[in-house]
Amino acid sequence: MIFKKIENKQIMDSYENPLEMSFISNNSGGYISKNQDILNSISLNNLNKLILKNAVKGTVIYKIGDSNEKIALISGIHGNELSSQIASLFLLEELLNSKLDNTIYLIPFAAPNATMNNTRRFNSKDLNRSSCIEGSLSNIILDKLLDCNVISIADFHTTGRNSNPGIESIFCSRKPSPKSCEIAEYINEHVGSKIIEHEKAGFPFKGAVEDESNLRGIPAITCEVLSPFGSLKKGSVERSLLQMKSFISYFNY
Ligand SMILES: [Zn+2]
Repeated sequence: MIFKKIENKQIMDSYENPLEMSFISNNSGGYISKNQDILNSISLNNLNKLILKNAVKGTVIYKIGDSNEKIALISGIHGNELSSQIASLFLLEELLNSKLDNTIYLIPFAAPNATMNNTRRFNSKDLNRSSCIEGSLSNIILDKLLDCNVISIADFHTTGRNSNPGIESIFCSRKPSPKSCEIAEYINEHVGSKIIEHEKAGFPFKGAVEDESNLRGIPAITCEVLSPFGSLKKGSVERSLLQMKSFISYFNY
């Protein structure tokens, strides 16, 4: 994948670290600003304006830092789970002014079109059940992240109180990538989110980004914070951001 450095001085003069970007898909674009809860929760600074503008054209991956240990964070696999998508914009800005030990790949809006429409599905597909299907957007995202040689992936979601899992949590699995559970234990210890451990990746259900990554030998987790689908629970963005930073700090951020 070819990454392009963002050169615009009006944007980048405020930050210490360079920022690079690349398009993962040109078929998933959407106007994030139509999602009022997101628009009202973020600062419309030059950086976020650029990110929203890019999302109109498709799914974008951002790259910060330049070291051998490469990790990836995803949000927006379900477009109507807002807290983690907002948190990822806060995270990106913070990383741009942090001393980094890793290369961090960040996908703030996996399917901007679904985020615009505040819907769980993209092109009638649940992206967290279809990453095992060749050509699905989540399958493409996973392929591209593996091309970048990431050593771990964390996928950030929200869950409603009366849905599954219905609690702030971290999903992990023992086989075939046991490090998935080590990462979950670290975040549990530092942030307090409950661990939901499965013995085998891809069971009881198939096609989650986390499971497919674990099955391909790249340790991965799914993090959930409590917030109703399609809207924002107070404090949920902060909880998601804590999970994200804890994941990064496991790799010595
Ligand atoms: Zn979700």
